[in-house]
Order: sequence, then C-alpha cells, then structure tokens
Amino acid sequence: MKALQELARKNIWQISPDETSLDNPGKDDARIFLDANEIPYNKPHNRYPDPWQTKLKATLSQVKGVAPENIFLGNGSDEVIDMVYRVFCEPRRDNVVAIAPTYGTYKARADVNDVEYRAVPLSEGFRLDAQKTLAARDANTKVIWLCSPNDPTGNSLQQTEIEKIIMGFDGIVVIDEAYSDFSPAKLFRSEIGKHPNIIALNTMSKAWGRADIRLGMAFANEQIVKLLNKVKLPYNINTLTQRHALDALEHRQDVEKWVRMLLQERGQLMKAFEYLPICERVYPSDSNFFLAKMTDAQSIYKYLTEKGIAVKNESDVELCENCLRVTVGTKSENSELLGALRQF
Ligand code: PMP
Repeated sequence: MKALQELARKNIWQISPDETSLDNPGKDDARIFLDANEIPYNKPHNRYPDPWQTKLKATLSQVKGVAPENIFLGNGSDEVIDMVYRVFCEPRRDNVVAIAPTYGTYKARADVNDVEYRAVPLSEGFRLDAQKTLAARDANTKVIWLCSPNDPTGNSLQQTEIEKIIMGFDGIVVIDEAYSDFSPAKLFRSEIGKHPNIIALNTMSKAWGRADIRLGMAFANEQIVKLLNKVKLPYNINTLTQRHALDALEHRQDVEKWVRMLLQERGQLMKAFEYLPICERVYPSDSNFFLAKMTDAQSIYKYLTEKGIAVKNESDVELCENCLRVTVGTKSENSELLGALRQF
C-alpha cells in the first residue's frame, strides 16, 4: 500500500484536525453550557449532537466487533461513499475502478466529484475477476469499489478474488457490505487490522430496517478514519438518529428474526419465479433481493406498476438486459406479486 499521505488529496492531508473546532476542552466537566450559541430552552432539542457519536460508537463497537477508533459514521453509507472521493481523489486527475454492474452511487458520486470512473464488467455468473479488475488501474487509481453481496446482482463476490485485489492494489479498496447481514460470507470489516487499505461499509438501512434514520458505517484503519473526520460536516449524525440507532442496537434480536424470515421468504419467492413462464432465469442471491431475467422486463415492469407493485427495472444496466430486481417483502406482499405475475 502507498503511504496515506500519497493517497489522500493534498489539501485534505494538510487540514489540521483542530480546524474543525468541534472540541472545547472546557466543556468536558461543565454544568452550564454557554459556549455554542444554543438557547437554554426547549430541552433536549436545543443542544447540538455529539459530533463524535461517542456512545453510539462504543455500542456499535461491541456489536460489530470493531474498535471505536476504527469506526466512522455517515448520513447513510451514501455520504461515506461521497466522502471517499473527497478524501482521496483529485478531480480531473485521479480515477477509480469498479465492477459492473454494481451500486449506481459509486459512479454518480464520481461524476459529481469530477473523477474518472472505470467500470470493469463482471465475468459469467457475475463473478469477480481480480486480474481483469486490477488490469484497469494505473498510477492515478486511488480507489477500487467492490460490493459484496453485490447490488443489483445479489451474489457475494468470491472471497479469494477480493483478497487478490486487496493484496495486489496499492490504493484503497472499499468493500460495501450493505447486504452482508443476509449472507454467511466472511466479513471484511474483521480484516481491517490485517489490511490497512480496506474500508468496509455497512448500514442500518437494510437488515436493521432503519433506512429513514440515515446511518451508514465505515470500518477502517484509524488513520483513514482520521482523514474522514477531517472532511465530515460537524454534526452529520443528528441526535435523533444517534438515539434511535442505540435503541436499534439494543433490540438486535429483532434483526436476527427479520433476517431469518426474509431468507425463508426469499427461498420461496425465488423458487416460485423459476416456475413462472415469463421468467427465464433467477440469479443466486445472498441478499434480501434477487435478480430475475424475464421474457420482457419492460412490459412486466409497466404492468406491475399499474397494479401498484414497484420492482426495480434493471433492463438498461450492463449485463442485466431484461432483468428485474425484486426485493423480498412480507409473505402477503410476495404472494400478491406472484399472483399478479401469474396473470400477466
Ligand atoms: N450500498 C449499497 C450496495 C446499496 O444498495 C445502498 C442502498 N440501496 C447503499 C449502499 C446506501 O445505503 P444507505 O442507506 O446507508 O445510504
């Protein structure tokens, strides 16, 4: 791995951590708070959130098995994705490499940040080819984006190929594990001690059932977390979100139950799709959704929309021609979907 100083944008590297002026040492033992221009009424909403999310990170640390200093929190993992560009990629000079198809935000934020995005198609069966992916990099490649389980394909990328990329690349490898709670595959967040160039992402939006609170997590080497901290907006995680996330972590047996139910439903739904005459192929999934190749995805999508059922039409996505991405719902939602498809 290159030195972080070489990987980070020069202006970001040069920012002093004090410049964010989030800390006031005089506040630690204070009883009366006259330092932040808050008004003293309307408690508790009158106070700014904890900018370092100390309590939340301590609890997350226990649940995720990662030390608090190795955790960075974003306003959804989408915010972290954008921040990776702002920390590492010099606009109009640096580039990133990603697999295709994959989660669209990696490209969207590359475009916003004016960073070249190099997409390497996955191989047959949406498999990762480390050699082919690494071949797309050059001296200005700062980041390789991997997503496992991958969206929209649903499958986990092979661990050995991911490892080849981590070992063979001297920049940052982001492994987006948004859907990992649905998968038995090894978690790369547990490898951050071994590989200082990994950033593993996770979110409260999927298995944790809290897409509305906007809480994304990045697990990485402490030096990378420090760089992300330099770039973040001071209060990017509001107090309501921090409180709600703590509550979610206390009730994590709910999550285990939801995952079990969804995996069972997914199995039944995928099997039912295989028997549909309008479905040509169902791709294997390690997620709470699956990709299905249909006879005519466009018309089926339109038909379902008219019936008030929203699925994702992936027809225009590279290697996903005629594919729909179907999220697993409740038993009754899934049977309504199947009923509609049987009448198409
Ligand atoms: N990563 C992947 C692979 C996703 O599919 C999504 C959302 N669809 C996200 C990240 C964004 O998650 P968040 O809600 O935490 O921003």
